[in-house]
Amino acid sequence: MVDKKTKVENKKEAKADAKVEKTITMQTKSGAACADSKCVIHGKLPARGRVFEGIVISDKMQKTVTVEWPGFAYIAKYERYEKKRSRIHARNPACISARTGDMVRIVETRPIAKTVKFVVVEKLPNIK
Ligand SMILES: [Zn+2]
Repeated sequence: MVDKKTKVENKKEAKADAKVEKTITMQTKSGAACADSKCVIHGKLPARGRVFEGIVISDKMQKTVTVEWPGFAYIAKYERYEKKRSRIHARNPACISARTGDMVRIVETRPIAKTVKFVVVEKLPNIK
C-alpha cells in the first residue's frame, strides 16, 4: 500500500519537473525571457495573417522597428516593372531586440498602435 502511494506521488513530481524544464528551455532558447505582454513567445499576442521578411532600417522608436523589403510593381503604359519598397512598423519585443541592419521575420497581429499591426518573431541570419 505504502509503495503504491509513493509511486503515484513520484509520478506527479516527475510531471511537474517536466513542466518546469519545458518553460526554462523556452526561456533560454529565445535568449532572455521578457515580461512584455505584447510578445508572441512570452505574452498573449496572437500571431496570424501575413508573414514578411525584411531588414530593420530604424530602431529609434520605443519597442518598435521599421522593416523594409524590396518589390516590383507593373506599369501597363511602359510594359515594364518599377522597383518599389514596402515599409512597415513592427513591435520589437525585448527578448528579440532587433537592431538596424538585422534581417527579421514579421507576422501580422492585432493593431498594437496606430501604425503597428505586425510583430517581430525572429531574427534571421544576415545575407550580405
Ligand atoms: Zn518575449
